[in-house]
Amino acid sequence: MTRITLVQGDITRQSVDAIVNAANSSLLGGGGVDGAIHRRGGPAILADCRKLRASHYGKGLPTGQAVATTAGDLDAQWVIHTVGPVHSQSLDRSELLASCYRESLRRADELGARTVAFPAISTGIYGWPMDDGARIAVETVRDADTAVDEVRFVLFDERAYEAFARQLP
Ligand code: ADP
Repeated sequence: MTRITLVQGDITRQSVDAIVNAANSSLLGGGGVDGAIHRRGGPAILADCRKLRASHYGKGLPTGQAVATTAGDLDAQWVIHTVGPVHSQSLDRSELLASCYRESLRRADELGARTVAFPAISTGIYGWPMDDGARIAVETVRDADTAVDEVRFVLFDERAYEAFARQLP
């Protein structure tokens, strides 16, 4: 059974096996949590991302997929980069958001990671409504077939924390 825990704070301060990054498809860094991870994790993460781009993802990492790199100077072994969908009013992209959580856990299992920290993917710059993003995150992790012992959702502010707390008993 995977334990789901909630923390309000900065994901770059977590001590876990793997930290999930809400990346963009270029894998070359961006704003929000992506910027924070590259800033605190140092240049080794970007160097790995560039190698992945050159070897596999010249056109970018597709939305809903996930890849792992070193965690550089972060207190973790790996960063798992996943590309969330931009929220759309007219198209239901929920399955792509669920895929981010599922594929990240798949990478974690391949690596043997037992503790994994997730941000609230797509709920920042990509505009996903927080309550719905929290529901998809918690339901997907609950239903996942994974050997990960702890999934820790690290929520940046109180509003995000409360939204996730409402999804847990
Ligand atoms: P996206 O492009 O997937 O929306 P963002 O980084 O803009 O990614 O936002 C995703 C979520 O991460 C938002 O809820 C945002 O408040 C949160 N966030 C931003 N910085 C951090 C951080 N250092 N630690 C944890 N969560 C963060």
